[in-house]
Amino acid sequence: MKVIRARSAGFCWGVERAIEIAREYATQGKRPVFTDGPLIHNSQMMERLEAEGIREVGDYLSQTSLEFGLTDAEKQRAVMVVRAHGISPERRGYLKQLGMKFRDATCPDVGSIAGRIKLHARKGYTTVIFGDPKHPEVIGLMGYTEGRGHVISTEKDIDFLPPLEDKICMVSQSTMFTFDFERLAQYLRQRYPGALVFNTICGATRERQSDVLVLAKQGAEAIVVIGGRHSANTVKLAALVEKQKLPCYHVETAAELDLEQLGQYKVIGVTAGASTPGFLIDEACEKLAST
Ligand code: SF4
Repeated sequence: MKVIRARSAGFCWGVERAIEIAREYATQGKRPVFTDGPLIHNSQMMERLEAEGIREVGDYLSQTSLEFGLTDAEKQRAVMVVRAHGISPERRGYLKQLGMKFRDATCPDVGSIAGRIKLHARKGYTTVIFGDPKHPEVIGLMGYTEGRGHVISTEKDIDFLPPLEDKICMVSQSTMFTFDFERLAQYLRQRYPGALVFNTICGATRERQSDVLVLAKQGAEAIVVIGGRHSANTVKLAALVEKQKLPCYHVETAAELDLEQLGQYKVIGVTAGASTPGFLIDEACEKLAST
């Protein structure tokens, strides 16, 4: 079987950067590292990081207390790392007062969305965020809207927005589909012609999405998408493959590959979400190539 691996498959720069920051403190047991929620949405990689002394603790969506019962001396050694998805200003304040060293590994692309929201909120704008209201990035971004933020994911959500003044600014969660964003931005503009629209889908997401189309052009008869089932961008890649009317096989690891089914194809494309480590992609490609 011929295997074509998407050029962009795997870690984006924001995820790589967050892992590097956490590892910088954990290497050789230098300091205990806690991350505010999973550093990345990939359980295999999280297991590796845990073995290196990088421990995930609860985020907004959990009830876990971050006080941990650490002594003052232990706190002085520990480091709290904010993951690539970013956090709200309130969460930042909370984490900082825990008494540990604080390192912000928010992806600069997410930081720039937050900055845009903050700037416009200060000028009195209402923010409309295209995204998943339960995604940590969106929860964090909402914290910059000065209480005037709304999350939408469909036209219906726009229909149900409360009456808004003219000053509206629309942004996107970084990992959404470009064509969905453009469709909803057009719909929002019909209702609010003065709305400012910023397409804040990040470069890494766009690249991964367009590489799916490249795989199809290169003759892939089916595409294997590798990555966590909780990873927003991986799930979107799988949906995009299905939109291309190509058979899609979303797996977390090579062990899940059904070689009997996949054996019917001569050319198979492989891609992976921005939170999928290279070793999982290598394993899957090697297994497929040997079929
Ligand atoms: S997907 Fe985009 S915004 Fe998210 S961490 Fe990667 S580069 Fe940053």
